[in-house]
Amino acid sequence: MKGMMQHRPLRIIDILSHAAEAFTDQGIISVRDEGDIHHATYPEILDRTAQLAHALDALGVLMGDRVATLAWNGHRHVELYYALAGIGAVCHTVNPRLSPEQMAYILNHAGDSLLCIDPSLVPVAEAVADEAPKGLRYIILSDRAHMPDTTLDALCYEELLEGQPTTYHWPDFPEETASGLCYTSGTTGHPKGALYSHRSTVLHALTVPLAQTSSFAAGKRVMPVVPMFHVNAWGLPYNAPLTGMTMVMPGRHLDGASLWQLMEDHDVYSAWGVPTVWAGLLAEIEAKTRAPHAFRDLVVGGSAAPASMTEAYEGFGVTVSQAWGMTEMSPIGTHGVVPPRLQNAPLSEQMQIKTSAGRRKFGLDFKLVDDDGTCMPHDGEAVGELYVRGNTVITGYYNNPEATKAAMDAEGWFGTGDVASLTPEGQLIIRDRAKDLVKSGGEWISSIDLENAAVSHPLVKTCAIIAVPHPKWDERPVLVVVPEGDTRPTLDDIHAHMGKHFAKWQLPDDILFTDELPLTATGKISKLTLRQQFADYIHP
Ligand code: ADP
Repeated sequence: MKGMMQHRPLRIIDILSHAAEAFTDQGIISVRDEGDIHHATYPEILDRTAQLAHALDALGVLMGDRVATLAWNGHRHVELYYALAGIGAVCHTVNPRLSPEQMAYILNHAGDSLLCIDPSLVPVAEAVADEAPKGLRYIILSDRAHMPDTTLDALCYEELLEGQPTTYHWPDFPEETASGLCYTSGTTGHPKGALYSHRSTVLHALTVPLAQTSSFAAGKRVMPVVPMFHVNAWGLPYNAPLTGMTMVMPGRHLDGASLWQLMEDHDVYSAWGVPTVWAGLLAEIEAKTRAPHAFRDLVVGGSAAPASMTEAYEGFGVTVSQAWGMTEMSPIGTHGVVPPRLQNAPLSEQMQIKTSAGRRKFGLDFKLVDDDGTCMPHDGEAVGELYVRGNTVITGYYNNPEATKAAMDAEGWFGTGDVASLTPEGQLIIRDRAKDLVKSGGEWISSIDLENAAVSHPLVKTCAIIAVPHPKWDERPVLVVVPEGDTRPTLDDIHAHMGKHFAKWQLPDDILFTDELPLTATGKISKLTLRQQFADYIHP
């Protein structure tokens, strides 16, 4: 028998409309490319979002159209998130750190019709303009006075909004309608797109604050340092208005000193981002001998939080919790809030929780699978590849049946490529990585793509990339080469050979030589053995 309750589709725009009604004095504080600090309340943001929706209509953006953004964290980017979703279009956030080749690929793969660019990122867009989709139009996120000189035929964002009505009749559509698109690097080949829906986004927004309880409180301020071009800034542009928090958007300056001052000046209570950024902020806190005055809550994700960093922040009165997740999961999968039984325990006892990847969030199922496909027990000891399932997990990659087939199992679970254990309490412990990728400063570098490019150098017979630990970037790629003949290529030779296809930060930091590469039983290069072989190697 069916229940007799109404079914209203979940819509992203309703989050902002709710905030504009319920939290009129909260909003967004943004460090802008113009150089100023901009304040707007949620009612003002909703008005501007309505104006933007009218402007998008006037430009001919239709339901299902993909509109790309190349922008830092700021209020205009949030307006784009909501206006595009509100009219049923798809907001495709593009990572400006990709190489021009990768960026051109994703703009074309997504079939974007518009690209909205922060002024400081205009040169990035210019570099891909020749390879961009035919007919792509550009909007620069600025007023007329701050429009940069550009070779692009670009419209001015503020001019588009000017004079447009501040209300909009937001259409109804099925909650499964696509709302956002974010590409993530694959182990091979091109980046792959996760296509979020209104339903998945709203459910993620509702469930994260229930899990990550330490971070959310109406009237307090949260700073997403994780970029809005990286999995929707982990959902904060939805969570914050929903819970009545003001967002402090740091723009493009993410060094420790800039973040410290911004947090101090704008009373930031909670901050979210990757360990590389928090190492920079910690150095500033140590130099100043105190944390920014309102700072109490730090969420670390994207890579494991080093125990020493967690302890150092806790020493300055900041509660640290780890989260684990993936682009394919919207992204939050676990949260590291200390359970009630340990809340009054000393830090040494809480560290067991704080050094794990956190606890499974409501609404997600996890399973561990060994190499033979056998499900492993959740006993904290057994190890297997982690598979996940739930309303905030992809069913496959956007227009990519091959990658979809590789990622999903026969029962529709998504394989994360993380090798892990799970405790009976649902605590996730990441043990290793099955995917052959290097994670540098929160960004992926494909080992296989680097290897394929390096091996085409005439002095390279075979080669392998290993991820080596790095104090600032967490991991960096190093190339291990078996030379062809007696002459060894230099690192400069390799960079010159590969440079065209990769961004500079993606290139290997060092080159090491060996007579042969170790192989696994199935004849693949054994990265595990290589890592052991070069375990004493210290990054230059
Ligand atoms: P994000 O960087 O936002 O987590 P990505 O999709 O770029 O999203 O990367 C997801 C991957 O990052 C995970 O599969 C895992 O390998 C790694 N990762 C994320 N969070 C953690 C964590 N807390 N500890 C260890 N690895 C993590």
